Amino acid sequence: MTIVTTDKQQVAQLKDIFKRAGIKLTHQRLEVYSAMTSADDHPSAETIYLRLQKKIPTIALDTIYRTLTTFEELGLVKKLHLMGERTLFDANLHQHHHFVCNRCQAIHDIYWPEFDNSVLPDPADVMGLAHSRHIELRGVCTRCMEELDDQKKP
Ligand SMILES: [Zn+2]
Ligand SMILES: [Zn+2]
Repeated sequence: MTIVTTDKQQVAQLKDIFKRAGIKLTHQRLEVYSAMTSADDHPSAETIYLRLQKKIPTIALDTIYRTLTTFEELGLVKKLHLMGERTLFDANLHQHHHFVCNRCQAIHDIYWPEFDNSVLPDPADVMGLAHSRHIELRGVCTRCMEELDDQKKP
């Protein structure tokens, strides 16, 4: 299930999910959710905080972090542990992988059904039952490569 924007029907859907979990869908939580689903850059709690500050000046970073953690528990976002210690959030719930640029730290979604459906190597079966697969590709993104090329020009 993916909720892309927060139109009326989707707000109702979201309310229902919260109600079943016994949590109140407050205005702030709804704003955090909306900021998450309209972001395509895998934001951290700090990034969401900066984006919401103008709209909700009273919101606290801690509230955002706790809200995102609640969303994760409800299966509405995924926590990503890329780039070392930074915790990032992903509202894209479709099975996908990531390309991470080492230079500008941009993170792009990659769909790779051939990999997702491939048979795992034997050792994986011996180790146990894998529930998920995630590939993190690292390198330099196209935009950075162009910038680096431009710098080389006299
Ligand atoms: Zn880059
Ligand atoms: Zn992603």
